[in-house]
Amino acid sequence: MESENPFNNALAQLASITDLLTISQEYYEMLKSPRREVIVALPLKLSDDAVATFTGYRVQHNNARGPYKGGIRYHPSVSLDEVKALAMWMTWKSAVIDIPFGGAKGGITVDPKKLPLDDLERLTRKFISAIERDIGPETDIPAPDLNTNAQTMAWIMNEYSKLRGHNVPAVVTGKPIEIGGSEGRSAATGRGVAICVREAVRKYLHKDMKDITVAVQGFGNVGSNTVKTLMEMGAKIAAISDVVGGARPRGSRAYFDEKFDYLYDNSIKLGSVNKIPGVEPISNAEVLESEVDVLVPAALENQIHEGNASKIRSKIVVEAANGPTTPMADKALQRSGITLVPDILANSGGVLVSYFEWVQNLNRDHWTEEEVNGRLETRMTHAFNQVTAYADKHNVDLRRAALALAVDKVVAAMRLSGWH
Ligand code: NAD
Repeated sequence: MESENPFNNALAQLASITDLLTISQEYYEMLKSPRREVIVALPLKLSDDAVATFTGYRVQHNNARGPYKGGIRYHPSVSLDEVKALAMWMTWKSAVIDIPFGGAKGGITVDPKKLPLDDLERLTRKFISAIERDIGPETDIPAPDLNTNAQTMAWIMNEYSKLRGHNVPAVVTGKPIEIGGSEGRSAATGRGVAICVREAVRKYLHKDMKDITVAVQGFGNVGSNTVKTLMEMGAKIAAISDVVGGARPRGSRAYFDEKFDYLYDNSIKLGSVNKIPGVEPISNAEVLESEVDVLVPAALENQIHEGNASKIRSKIVVEAANGPTTPMADKALQRSGITLVPDILANSGGVLVSYFEWVQNLNRDHWTEEEVNGRLETRMTHAFNQVTAYADKHNVDLRRAALALAVDKVVAAMRLSGWH
């Protein structure tokens, strides 16, 4: 059985590019381990008077290119190794999309759906007061991730600002617009994924968006915004899913002709995409195994693995989630001739617009949505072209190309700054 430990997968990916770059052993060792791992115990008296102790993590992988940057997730399976993997991927992501940030990640092992909102707010504030010295606009800037959102970021900003005695909007990104958030941030990751889908089908399938079908696993922030933007671009959505199950159009239709708002509003109102009137409920496995041009995994890690990789029937996989494909599945997809656009490129639209938000906060500025989306479009397309050009030149897959480009930039910054 292959490892389900995401940190082992992240290390295996790093090892896979050592034949493309010459990295001295001491830099390689530094890249393998995060610079800091912070673990905090968070005892909390809950509103039902019970006391529970939660564990919080902040892992700072590398800051050679700028302050640490990365999301905070709330999930029962959050572990140190998961956060370490995600922190390393953030370092590569910031470098691929070429913004002056390093990589970090954080999280609390908690099932947020089981806590009332008041308890979740107090847990968030407790976490921030515990890691207050580790974060800051010039040191480490958190953002939303699984099960955290703009409201969570507002609590973080407020708690941090209270501790500092003045308003510090640039300490987090993904905030509500009213308190310094950026236009276009909440849709940015999905929009960037859709741009990668468009560029990939153009380059590898020589097709227009209106001629392609797409299946998307996950209908949260990233999955739903990917579907929305793909529909706006004219692509045809053949299947969608969430944690409850999947959905395809009922009857002989090959793709949804319902409007995005109809699908989204009903999925929220009824609790799942497979309860939307007019859809045919299918399993999550069937969504992943749909015969489509493009498959977009936009839920969790390790969704395409040794056991199901041979059943993937799309021509292209665009990784919207972090680490959705295991290293063994990666090789199996390559053997089947499937082109994979890796997570560190495909979902970097989120951190890119987070960077725009941070720049706006530091300059006390506010850009229009058109300006944000225009800059996102230019920089995503540029990064996509850089990665595919590297892959063509060195005859390697896109994951290794993106990683090699990223590691090269990080090592250059470490070397020039004298990290030895
Ligand atoms: P989210 O919590 O908003 O949505 C997650 C979605 O996945 C939900 O629809 C949920 O029902 C679904 N899901 C959970 N388990 C599933 C399962 N076993 N099978 C099918 N669906 C399942 O989270 P998000 O912000 O959309 O993040 C999704 C992924 O994208 C994560 O890997 C995250 O790290 C990554 N990501 C998010 C951002 C961002 O800006 N939010 C940026 C970069 C990467």
